[in-house]
Amino acid sequence: TRTFFVGGNHKCNGNKASIKALVSELNKVESKSNVEIIIAPPSIYLDYTQSLVDSGKIQLSAQNCYSETKGAFTGEIAAEMVKDLNINWVIIGHSERRSIFGESGELLAKKTKHAIDIGLKVIFCIGEQLADRQSSKTEAVLSAQLGDLKSLDKKQWDSIVIAYEPVWAIGTGVTATPDQAQDTHKYVRSWLKDNIDETVAAKTSIMYGGSVGAANCNALAEKPDVDGFLVGGASLIATDFSTIIKSAS
Ligand code: 13P
Repeated sequence: TRTFFVGGNHKCNGNKASIKALVSELNKVESKSNVEIIIAPPSIYLDYTQSLVDSGKIQLSAQNCYSETKGAFTGEIAAEMVKDLNINWVIIGHSERRSIFGESGELLAKKTKHAIDIGLKVIFCIGEQLADRQSSKTEAVLSAQLGDLKSLDKKQWDSIVIAYEPVWAIGTGVTATPDQAQDTHKYVRSWLKDNIDETVAAKTSIMYGGSVGAANCNALAEKPDVDGFLVGGASLIATDFSTIIKSAS
């Protein structure tokens, strides 16, 4: 009964021509009624993409936004600006923001709180590195990343979808096995139960991300705690992304 989210994180890829071609294909996709499709082009193209999508079918997300309303923050975009475009989603805490741009858990918590306060919904990304998994630290890492959100009010969890993206699976072609994804998603749900509450644990959708493609989406989607996908590379290819959308269980 949880919503199945299929997100396309375009990262720093694409241009007006490729977005136009992609969206014209995605506008034709028939999806099940419990599925929400969200695409996240680079922020400079959000308004353009918004003008092309069938808004009854496809929602948009920013890939990031800042923790402050406005001001002297050259290069940043405010959550308020995302909202001003009638866009309702933002991805926060992607591993590339954490590792390449050095965003701390504290900053990600501030961004998340601010985005939700002004009415955005947040895809909050968590995930362990390969060395963490190999040394059995996956749960400790995820627990710490989720723990950064402890300042949120319980009600604010209604505006969060979690994306579990193991760093070793992102862009590598190595996907978590369906069992690995299920076990980890189950752990995340148990964390929510123990640290937030049972209702939030039952209601919160947990997407999987990391080398999801047309060939592996069905087996992952069958798992009971996999409530969608956050897709990078394959979200740029209309046929692959359409197959992933249709894998929803
Ligand atoms: P890939 O699907 O390219 O592995 O990227 C996953 C991702 O980082 C989505 O946010």
